Amino acid sequence: MVEAQEILKLPWLNESELYKCVHCGFCLQACPTYLTTGLETESPRGRIALMKAVNEGRLEISDQVMRHWDLCIQCRACEDVCPSGVPYGNLIESTMDQIRDHRKIGFIPRLAYEISLRHLIPNQRNLAIVVSMMNLYVKSGLQKVVRKTKILKLISKRFERLEKMTPAVNGKFFRAEGQLYTADVEGTETIQMLSGCVMPLTQGNQMRAAVRTLNKANKDVEVPLNQGCCGAINSHVGDLGKAKELARANIEAFSKGSGTEPIIVNSAGCGARMREYGHLLSDDPDYASKAVDFSKRVVDINEYLDQAKLQPGETSIPKTVTYQDSCHLANVQKVKDAPRNLIKSIDGIDFCELKGSNICCGAGGTYMITEPEMSEAVLAEKIRNLVDSGADIIATANPGCFMQLDNGIKAAGINVEVKYVTDLLDETYTKSK
Ligand code: SF4
Ligand code: SF4
Repeated sequence: MVEAQEILKLPWLNESELYKCVHCGFCLQACPTYLTTGLETESPRGRIALMKAVNEGRLEISDQVMRHWDLCIQCRACEDVCPSGVPYGNLIESTMDQIRDHRKIGFIPRLAYEISLRHLIPNQRNLAIVVSMMNLYVKSGLQKVVRKTKILKLISKRFERLEKMTPAVNGKFFRAEGQLYTADVEGTETIQMLSGCVMPLTQGNQMRAAVRTLNKANKDVEVPLNQGCCGAINSHVGDLGKAKELARANIEAFSKGSGTEPIIVNSAGCGARMREYGHLLSDDPDYASKAVDFSKRVVDINEYLDQAKLQPGETSIPKTVTYQDSCHLANVQKVKDAPRNLIKSIDGIDFCELKGSNICCGAGGTYMITEPEMSEAVLAEKIRNLVDSGADIIATANPGCFMQLDNGIKAAGINVEVKYVTDLLDETYTKSK
């Protein structure tokens, strides 16, 4: 019998949401951690059963129980296929937030979290310094020495994995300075664009490519000042307090124009988070209604360009291209056809579907660093399917997926490029024949 003080109801969970699950198991074949392990406890149904057991006082929140929740990638594929409409994303998000106090975390990991996710990622200036240092580490040749000596492997697999994720800085930083990029012909609409946190520093070229494609659709693109990280990473690790703070800051930053412009997002994870600000801030009397209005303005760039009927340029891309669904685009924002339509509209591309493209690649925000074994196991299946597809290029719509796929491809030594859909579109206008 569990001691009284150890029993903790889960007051954070909306019971009507929790008890919607009828244990039918339709979600099992969509869950990457279940497919990898075959274990009920690593399935959505199993994780929900654990929430119920804790909620009913039959189980304490032990390290073992938290481990099963931690191993969830939060890809929300289970939510997408659930016939009972279980809002799994809400359940796991609240659970991760509320169990923070139950974790026995040492001083160093807690400090690392505080610095990285509360002071670094949300602060562009600090993050730019770190990315510049990382760039120096790569360009100075130090990275080669570290990798050759395998010194990090001796310290920890997590450090080694973290080092492997060192992003190549692609072009100058893309900064959110309130600038306006105007279309060649008179813009038919002014839109606002999210810059984000890591992507504008490591993938400045891809950010600029996204802007150019929006301009080609005759849209003027404004990048509002004082915007920042969307809060997705904080939500993922159970820090809803910080996620709310970041959400409020973005709502303010994007309210300076008419307050009605579409907010275009070229990172699926950020778009999903921002589309759910209404839910995130539902208990905030000052922001609840502003957050609902804000969320309605958020549109993924692929969906926006497809709806705008963007015409690609004339340059042909004679390559076989496949597409990996970004979980937060397909499962949360329900955008599945738009990226495929855009790719297929490009002259010369032979599009092929990737087997299991709807299954997560194992990236999951910080998951690829915090859970390297499971992340790599999930990725391995993806890379096998990619090889079988025969594709020259794999397109995606999220920086986390981009990084994860790129690492998997490099580790496997295969000759496949990773690109955003907007990179491919941009090439049709800018590459010479
Ligand atoms: S989450 Fe949905 S699909 Fe999965 S077992 Fe519960 S009711 Fe069935
Ligand atoms: S969110 Fe993804 S990893 Fe987590 S239980 Fe659902 S399908 Fe499995």
